[in-house]
Amino acid sequence: MHISNERYFADRLRHDLALRMIHHEARTCTIRTCTGLTDDRIRRLYQTYATHMPAVPMRRHRGKSPRQIAFFTRNPRIQFEASLLAGLFVAFGLINAVRNGADPLGYGSLFCDVYETHVLLSGSRAVSFEHAWFLLHLLAKNVGLGLLRCRHCGAHFLDDRTTVLKRGCPACRLKALPRRQLRHAPVLLPQVRPHTRSLPSAVRLSA
Ligand SMILES: [Zn+2]
Repeated sequence: MHISNERYFADRLRHDLALRMIHHEARTCTIRTCTGLTDDRIRRLYQTYATHMPAVPMRRHRGKSPRQIAFFTRNPRIQFEASLLAGLFVAFGLINAVRNGADPLGYGSLFCDVYETHVLLSGSRAVSFEHAWFLLHLLAKNVGLGLLRCRHCGAHFLDDRTTVLKRGCPACRLKALPRRQLRHAPVLLPQVRPHTRSLPSAVRLSA
């Protein structure tokens, strides 16, 4: 009976995480990595989710996962959000969890916490769940993107490691935009306060 209960709760955790990831339009391969569920079970969960949550628009992404590093620096808004995500990854201990080979079920759940926090703070899903997942693994491998210091405000932000341009941070560039262009910029919430020196500029901006 004890073993049966253990199995039930482990299975329940896997299904709960899979449904949470389906809600964020995660790809099947990402869900499989975190939950260990088979593609067939994930496909049936998609169908169940769509049946029980008809009011929630959901797309099932197919094809290749995101792999363009340039996506994260394509404009100040995306770069701001990527910097904010990087700060949250550090604050939640996710980068070290990936590097240390933590239990995928555990860090998959933590990743959902981070992504949901990011959506609340930024008010945007311009960086999709799958792009955020790609960003986490880039940062864990320490390739492609690195921290730079803004020459205007002194804060740190994510940028292409190979760039030779001395640009300001995305927040400084967003502030310099005409007001009409800020309509599509992320929300800079004044209540976000830094609590660690390792957070990048995006998190520190509003302090
Ligand atoms: Zn700056």
